[in-house]
Amino acid sequence: MSEKYDAIIIGGGPAGSTAAVYLARAGKRTLILERERFPRFHIGESLLPYNMPLFREMGFLPALREGGFMEKYGAQFVLPDGSLKTHIQFGMGKFTTEPMAYQVERSRFDEMLLRHAESRGAEVREGWAVKDYTIDPAGGVTVTAQNGGAPERFEADFLIDASGTANFTGNREGLKEIYESHRKVAIFGHYTGIALPEGKCGGDILIFRLKDAWFWFIPLSREKVSLGLVVDRAAFKESERSPEEIFDAAVERCPDLKARLANAERTGPMRTLVDFSYHNRRFTGDRLVRIGDAAAFLDPIFSSGVYLAMLSAKTAALAVADAIDRGVPNTSRMRRYEKRMRRYLKAYFEMIVKFYDQPFIELLFQPRNTKMHLPDAIVAILAGQLEGGWAVTWRLRFFFLLVKIQRRFPLVDRLSLE
Ligand SMILES: Cc1cc2nc3c(=O)[nH]c(=O)nc-3n(C[C@H](O)[C@H](O)[C@H](O)COP(=O)(O)OP(=O)(O)OC[C@H]3O[C@@H](n4cnc5c(N)ncnc54)[C@H](O)[C@@H]3O)c2cc1C
Repeated sequence: MSEKYDAIIIGGGPAGSTAAVYLARAGKRTLILERERFPRFHIGESLLPYNMPLFREMGFLPALREGGFMEKYGAQFVLPDGSLKTHIQFGMGKFTTEPMAYQVERSRFDEMLLRHAESRGAEVREGWAVKDYTIDPAGGVTVTAQNGGAPERFEADFLIDASGTANFTGNREGLKEIYESHRKVAIFGHYTGIALPEGKCGGDILIFRLKDAWFWFIPLSREKVSLGLVVDRAAFKESERSPEEIFDAAVERCPDLKARLANAERTGPMRTLVDFSYHNRRFTGDRLVRIGDAAAFLDPIFSSGVYLAMLSAKTAALAVADAIDRGVPNTSRMRRYEKRMRRYLKAYFEMIVKFYDQPFIELLFQPRNTKMHLPDAIVAILAGQLEGGWAVTWRLRFFFLLVKIQRRFPLVDRLSLE
């Protein structure tokens, strides 16, 4: 048994590393237990502009800039045949102040962030898988972890679960709820041999929207592109085809993407993930907070995962530091953390559900209300501006009303996504 820590964090992904940085800033002794040895592959490569203030505050921006990651200034939504495009430029948004983000190869990005947390004072143990935990509200937390040998025990005042979709404590406590209406499969890989346009838009994320599926196209560098397909889980199962076959058949239905892939070669394995959209019924408990994907994860369509993971980590870490200072197992600040995150998740989920709705796509691809700045409200959410206030909220509500009307009475042309 080692000396007692202020906090133990399960997982050294973006959420775990961010929480460790903020705890270190608050003078807390923190241990990160990470079961992998970094660098390790991870999906989730397109960041949002509102990640940038967090990077700045954490002192991580210089390292990120030196890392030479692809700069992302916009997002393009594209019809399968390329005949129509909506080009969102973050720098042009009326309600946003952050013009750019980065596209990152996660193996390198996550390792840099973990090293940053270490340099700020966190103790990091890689190759240590957490196996068990007990919480005594009056005393503290005991965590059992293993790195190949006999299990060892670690003690702390607080436990922060940043275990990602492994959802360590949520699964143990039976808290996980999958969004039944939203069961998806993602099939993805990395590709070379894809020509990218010169200039700022070369780093844009492209979203190809098919009738029943969508592709992401994320330039990780001028030589490497991350490509992924998201389809309904039911259709995936029914088709009885391999992920590669489903992926290739979808490319065939998307002539614009097919043309871009004319000389493309996959550099590694094709990977598959199933049922990644869920939330836990509770994000906090006595001496425990869940952050990042270990609290909840939504669909990847708006690239909000890493941003929400880091934002939740910061908010929760500050609440935990405060609870430690006050010597109590649970505080109203921890509950406010959960409330705030649920508000953000709801905002994204509403947009996500709409994205799968054809009238929303028709209005998104054919914006008409530029004088009222309705598209700017969408840009705000896509950039990660979640505190845009009433100016953004009423425009979103109005846009959603137009989506309802579009379903019955076309305000803009009907589109074919075939
Ligand atoms: C198909 C798909 C595409 C996505 N695309 C994007 C995107 O473009 N942009 C974006 O921002 N997000 C995207 N995401 C989401 C993004 O991947 C996650 O939201 C993000 O990685 C969450 O970070 P995290 O730190 O919470 O979890 P993770 O990054 O998963 O980190 C959790 C860590 O915990 C460790 N761990 C787990 N269990 C244990 C244990 N028992 N003991 C010790 N360590 C443990 C794991 O090894 C891992 O390193 C995507 C997700 C999916 C499914």
